[in-house]
Amino acid sequence: MSFFSFNRKLTELDKRAMELVKDEFSYVDEISNYNSQKVLKAFIDNRVSEAHLGISTGYGYGDIGRDTLDKIVADCFGAEDCLIRHGFASGTHTLTVALFGILRPGDSVLCLTGRPYDTITGVFGIDKADDGSLADFGITYNQIELKADKTPDIDEIKKELSNKKYKMAYIQRSRGYSTRPSLSVETIKNLCDAVKSVSKDTVIMVDNCYGEFVEKKEPTEVGADLMAGSLIKNPGGGIAPCGGYIAGKKKYVEMCANRMTCAGVGREVGATLGHNRELYMGFFSSPHIVGEALKTAIYSSALFELLGFETNPKYNEKRADIIESIILKNDKSLIAFCKGLQSGSPIDSFVVPEPWEMPGYTDKVIMAAGAFTLGASIELSADGPLREPFAVWLQGGINFSTAKVGILLAAETVIKNESKG
Ligand SMILES: *Cc1c(COP(=O)(O)O)cnc(C)c1O
Repeated sequence: MSFFSFNRKLTELDKRAMELVKDEFSYVDEISNYNSQKVLKAFIDNRVSEAHLGISTGYGYGDIGRDTLDKIVADCFGAEDCLIRHGFASGTHTLTVALFGILRPGDSVLCLTGRPYDTITGVFGIDKADDGSLADFGITYNQIELKADKTPDIDEIKKELSNKKYKMAYIQRSRGYSTRPSLSVETIKNLCDAVKSVSKDTVIMVDNCYGEFVEKKEPTEVGADLMAGSLIKNPGGGIAPCGGYIAGKKKYVEMCANRMTCAGVGREVGATLGHNRELYMGFFSSPHIVGEALKTAIYSSALFELLGFETNPKYNEKRADIIESIILKNDKSLIAFCKGLQSGSPIDSFVVPEPWEMPGYTDKVIMAAGAFTLGASIELSADGPLREPFAVWLQGGINFSTAKVGILLAAETVIKNESKG
């Protein structure tokens, strides 16, 4: 019985890829078992009941569902406190609330991991300072470039922090759409230790997007004071319809709560309008869903390596986020990959993606996504700019069985295109 069939060569490579990834898959299972049980324990410890899944409206005073989920997430992330809200419009918005929550005019931020994710450069005001960015409010930004091997430069970081006073040190865990490796929690620990050794009052904040539940620990368990992420990525488990979270030290989370709503009111208001159930279910499922996304990334890496492409990370390399990139070498193969992947999506499988001029990007970009939640990158999705080396960044997959079909269709389309060309 088979609902999808592929030619003999691809069927053979699929079998070989599945053999190759066995050890990695059992490691993913170990992490996802551990984290799933960590979350279950937090639900039990916090005595979650049906009442927590209810609806609040208006000011949302005394919403026990909202307030208890904050505690659950804090427990799971080894943090003192947390704000998890559907009202954060995106990951960037969540990070923005955290940054503006902590920083004041005259303060300085040092980014320890080179140039940050595209949308965050606008928040710091790295290129343009007059549109409500941190720079517009008199907060200065500086960054330490990565070393030649694309890892953080701890010596330079320490030197800069001993020369000048910084209110915040900022770390981006995921590679985003760059070619640097993502940071393991162990590397983040080394960075936190380095910062605290020379400047103990500097607040360490981590952009944790795409990193949640990929390892057994989170940045807030190894010295980060604050971290934030998006609910249409890992911690929403493919169920949360939107939102974000901020977790960390109590005093910093309170400062963020005052920025999230108003000084003096903070976290006391914010109706959940019926979203509690989705946020609870999503967070509960997240460790398992992240495991499915990791298997999708590992399998893609193995399959495309067998097909002769360079992949990053390699299928058997240690992972710190759910992103995989595959170097497709030319524009036709990149476009073919995205078309194939799209044709295996549960939603909009019949749509044909085309490269387009995306605001804020210098080259045309092609994207494939057929997701239940618009833009959710915990669901199978891929994109890449049409420029050398024609790499595609691939992420998500809320179950491996179906995500694998998307990957095989992408591979088939790439092969067909190559034999044509
Ligand atoms: C996704 C992401 C963000 C936030 O992006 P949004 O599209 O605003 O949710 C920030 N940093 C990194 C590294 C990301 O991957």
